[in-house]
Amino acid sequence: MSNTDLYTASDYEALLQFLYLVPVGLVQTTLGGEVLLLNAMSARLLLPVSPDGSLDNLFTALADVAPDLRALAQAFTQPYGVVCESLRIPLQPHPGQPALGAAQPQVLSFSLFKLDPTRLMAVLNDATFDVQREQQGLARRLNAAARVDNLTRMPNRSVALEHLQRILARNVGATGDAGPEFAVLFMNCDRLKQINDTAGHAAGDGVLGLLADRLRATLRSRSRFERHNGSELVAARIGGDEFVVLVDDLARADHVHAVAQRLLDVLAKPYGIGPHQLHCSVSMGIVLRAQARGDADAVLQSASIAMVEAKRAGGARYVVFEPAMQVRAAHRADIEAELRRALAQEQLFVVYQPVVGLVPAAPADGAVDRTSGVEALVRWDHPARGVVLPYEFITVAEECGLIGALGDFVLASACRQFVQWRAALGPQAPRLLAVNVSRAQLHQPGWVAYVDALLRSIGMDAAQLQLEVTESLAAQDESVQARLHELKALGLTLALDDFGTGYSSLASLHLLPVDTVKIDRSFVCQADTSQHHRVLIEATVRVAHSLGMATVAEGIETPAQAAVVRELQCDKGQGYIFSRPRTADGLVQWLRTPVDD
Ligand code: C2E
Ligand code: MG
Ligand code: MG
Repeated sequence: MSNTDLYTASDYEALLQFLYLVPVGLVQTTLGGEVLLLNAMSARLLLPVSPDGSLDNLFTALADVAPDLRALAQAFTQPYGVVCESLRIPLQPHPGQPALGAAQPQVLSFSLFKLDPTRLMAVLNDATFDVQREQQGLARRLNAAARVDNLTRMPNRSVALEHLQRILARNVGATGDAGPEFAVLFMNCDRLKQINDTAGHAAGDGVLGLLADRLRATLRSRSRFERHNGSELVAARIGGDEFVVLVDDLARADHVHAVAQRLLDVLAKPYGIGPHQLHCSVSMGIVLRAQARGDADAVLQSASIAMVEAKRAGGARYVVFEPAMQVRAAHRADIEAELRRALAQEQLFVVYQPVVGLVPAAPADGAVDRTSGVEALVRWDHPARGVVLPYEFITVAEECGLIGALGDFVLASACRQFVQWRAALGPQAPRLLAVNVSRAQLHQPGWVAYVDALLRSIGMDAAQLQLEVTESLAAQDESVQARLHELKALGLTLALDDFGTGYSSLASLHLLPVDTVKIDRSFVCQADTSQHHRVLIEATVRVAHSLGMATVAEGIETPAQAAVVRELQCDKGQGYIFSRPRTADGLVQWLRTPVDD
């Protein structure tokens, strides 16, 4: 025996030894799967799943967990080559066999090679850890995705809640002035819905993305220059157009005003989206440590209540939460729930107040044109409280999105009623119907077409309808202006309601697409006692007339007020002196038989 042979033999021996002990399962079989050779690892992997507890045949041993293997091998007709590679086979014990222990392999990686025309070689690996690692990676990625808002790449609501909970937990026990100050800033975009409706959802998303960038940049700069170590400053997107900023490093509670104002200023700058410069201010509610009650959810809720107050006050501002707001919010929520029921159960109804023609050369008795027109005003026949006036529920209806349904109900009822009067009373019927319109109705997609279809379906001439909009609404952005022009194109007219109380001045009256100006009651009620108010009414009438607009004096209560507005050439008047708002039947009576109110 040569040295080389000796060396080779021992090497071969060592190799066999190695192959037997290597932590990879190796099984050599016939083409039918009868086992010719197998090492220790393959026995360990295969035995627990083998249906008959034996390892005579590889395919039989794996029959339960990989029943197609035999067919796969038979289908491989080449003399040698790879039959299959790295198949993942989940391992389950054959029924009757003991369950697999946690330390036992759970998943097999299986490869099968044809060595020559008569033999197969299977290579088996324990893939349990690989699979677990993959699953953990996937879970991590899913978890990360569940914590980050896709659009803005900001942390989401659950992250904000966790941070807030941590801040609150740290403050448990800290009382009085002793604890560190923190603030929860809850922001809601003021005009995102309008942007989505008018410029499209892509533009809305663009604004949200830029808004998030600005938030991040503002907070980063603050953290670089002003913050203490170890404190947290988190900005998160917690809903469609809602963001939250948690500031827990305030030296004093009143420092929050500067932080809030800075954020409002930065976020209110125009957003350049494609060719558009879009404006989207935010309203902000703030909860300070002293008012933070309950868990993170409750604190966010308080901040959101303060945000709603900021919106109610006109938006683009911040409001610091006070407990009284909670009571008001609960009251509003009650009204909202009841109002939903009221709409469904038809508790709402419409009353009509005459808008009379003021004959310029007034006869001594102050006669008026009674058939000039009526204004439709909504009422709520509350089951417990009786008739409720609009100031108690119109704002709530606007805030909770019910105003669209409410307004459309009033419009449809009033138009139907008007047509009935025309048919029943002929020349004694009112000639014009005025209906109040809210912002939400104007923004409803397709609303102009709805009005058009309504008028057609009930056979009412558009020229007989006047829609009343408030100054603040009429003076709004281009989209509202466009909508008003579309309405006018139907043939109806527009009136500017409550003139004098809002934004626009006489100088900008010519910019608004209105046909009639209704001078607010607050001027009219002092027409006969205050020279100042008298002059204002006179100026309004003159400017309106010079622009071809008609004028109505609202809220006339006394003969003296009526005489003044008549003298100042006001075209029409409305007020208790002529008639209070009446039911449809009551109005017919008033038209037929003049009665004093
Ligand atoms: P408005 O459109 O300015 O309606 C005139 C309001 O003044 C009515 O109050 C009317 O009853 C009241 N009024 C009329 N003459 C006199 C008077 O001589 N003295 C006094 N003190 N008040 C007088 P009302 O019905 O309570 O409605 C209040 C406001 O609610 C309306 O003001 C309007 O802005 C809103 N509103 C009423 N109905 C609707 C509706 O269907 N839709 C919408 N969006 N708003 C409505
Ligand atoms: Mg009105
Ligand atoms: Mg008014």
